[in-house]
Amino acid sequence: MKVVELLRNDGVPNVSYEIVPPKRGGSVSEILEIIDKLMEFAPPFVDVTSHSAQIYYEEQQDGSWRRHIKRKRPGTLGLCAAIKGRFGIETVPHLLCKGFTREESEDALIELNYLGIQNVMALRGDDSGFQKPVHGDRTRNEYAIDLVRQIHAMNTGHFLEELIDAAPTDFCVGVAGYPEKHFEAPNIKWDVKNLKHKIEAGAEYVTTQMFFDNESFFAFETACRSAGITAPIIPGLKVLTSKSQLQTLPSRFHIQIPEELASEIAAAKDHEVPEIGVRWAIKQCDELLSRGFSNLHFYIIQTPNHAAQVVRSLRKLA
Ligand code: FAD
Repeated sequence: MKVVELLRNDGVPNVSYEIVPPKRGGSVSEILEIIDKLMEFAPPFVDVTSHSAQIYYEEQQDGSWRRHIKRKRPGTLGLCAAIKGRFGIETVPHLLCKGFTREESEDALIELNYLGIQNVMALRGDDSGFQKPVHGDRTRNEYAIDLVRQIHAMNTGHFLEELIDAAPTDFCVGVAGYPEKHFEAPNIKWDVKNLKHKIEAGAEYVTTQMFFDNESFFAFETACRSAGITAPIIPGLKVLTSKSQLQTLPSRFHIQIPEELASEIAAAKDHEVPEIGVRWAIKQCDELLSRGFSNLHFYIIQTPNHAAQVVRSLRKLA
């Protein structure tokens, strides 16, 4: 089924999750254990992130430098197929523009189609140093909208090389939205306008970057609706579990942590932080649900236990 068919609008918590593939050569069993734990909550779908290649240089004995290209976390497509096959739930692989040619994207999409995966999240990705964007390079997608257009073309039977007898694909495409604005956008209006263009190009729903202040999400949702975006917008949430995240989350994801939450965490002992994070997330979810946002999306990096605590508590309240 498609993500847009799995969304609910009835106040009952409908919680999806985003997981990260294991590091190169790592075991898939830990990820499958995470999904196993989440099955208690009947997730409508699970997103699996994608990671572009990184470039690094190694000094040689003769003083020269050898260039290496490495994908630290490959396996998004295989993992999606494994989860879908084993647990029977829909999976949403993330596809990136950065680090991939349009041909590679088409190949990945054809493979997903063979695997019966109908949902994809189209993203630009961040600069990994692997490939500097060259404006006008038609072999690569520059912005997420270019990838959305490519998928939409495939959905209408147009492949890069026109193929006789190729059946059109039927992907449901999600795109990213930023309640606190994307860090490169000069202002929120500009960012929302670009989001609207992604929807007009064929995306069917939006999942947001994590946020810890619901007011930023409500303002973003209002801005999207005023701009004429009618697609579902799924709020992205994360449970804060360590003091170090007060620095790492803002610097990595360009988001803010409200003063009240940051001060409480800073003053707490290390072992008290997860409890504070869980309490905050429950409060956020309660408010979102009471304002009619039944579909929630949790970012999970290592353990599902804290998100599970939140969801268990919401189900008791529902
Ligand atoms: P875009 O929509 O292309 O936007 C990027 C910036 O360009 C924005 O500032 C936008 O306003 C601007 N822009 C768009 N079009 C134009 C235009 N035509 N001209 C000028 N400016 C324009 N990263 C990963 O590497 N792997 C993942 O799996 C992953 N999953 C994510 C999931 C979610 C839900 C979210 C919110 C983010 C995720 N990211 C992931 C991070 C994402 O790749 C970065 O935030 C990236 O910087 C932007 O991606 P985008 O798809 O939003 O880009």
